Amino acid sequence: MKAQDYPSALQGLIGQLKRMPGIGSRGAERLALWFLQQGRNESATLAHALLLANEEVGYCPDCGFFSHRGHSCSACTDPERDARQICVVEQPTDVLPIERCGLYRGLYHCLGGKISPLDGIMPEDLAVKKLIARVSERQGCEVILAVGSDVEGEATALYLRGELLPLNCRVSRLAQGMPAGAGLGHADTVTLMRALEGRQLI
Ligand SMILES: [Zn+2]
Repeated sequence: MKAQDYPSALQGLIGQLKRMPGIGSRGAERLALWFLQQGRNESATLAHALLLANEEVGYCPDCGFFSHRGHSCSACTDPERDARQICVVEQPTDVLPIERCGLYRGLYHCLGGKISPLDGIMPEDLAVKKLIARVSERQGCEVILAVGSDVEGEATALYLRGELLPLNCRVSRLAQGMPAGAGLGHADTVTLMRALEGRQLI
């Protein structure tokens, strides 16, 4: 006797959902059954949203944050922002936690990672050249380094400081108390506000 199981199409759906980050076997099963119960429209809506996001979402050619593919992001094109402040983060996902504290009105720059020789990530693998170009265009601007406080984050901050200071800009570092290596998304808003307000020139 063969043990009873879901039909193959449902097993396939569960298998696909299980591959997604943060979704285990039970969660995948619950989601798949939920979609079946909702009917065809719900599945079509999700499929459409997935395809649309893949087709339309890209990275801002200026700062590296998410944007409509091929276009600059809404921060880079906002004339009300202070273009003489550039906040440097490791990943695009670090931008929104800073935005949500409501204190910062400048531009961003996403490096795409941090210097980590052990993992083979060197400065040339990050968006450093682009940062240098942007800072060079803005004499006297302030560059706020909002990279992590772990060893790689410190090494990245030190390296960037050396590259940026000769460009006639001020370089500051977020105050201590930031999460080490976990991304800014793990910091609560109050901690981020204090870290921004307490930033120090380095
Ligand atoms: Zn941008």
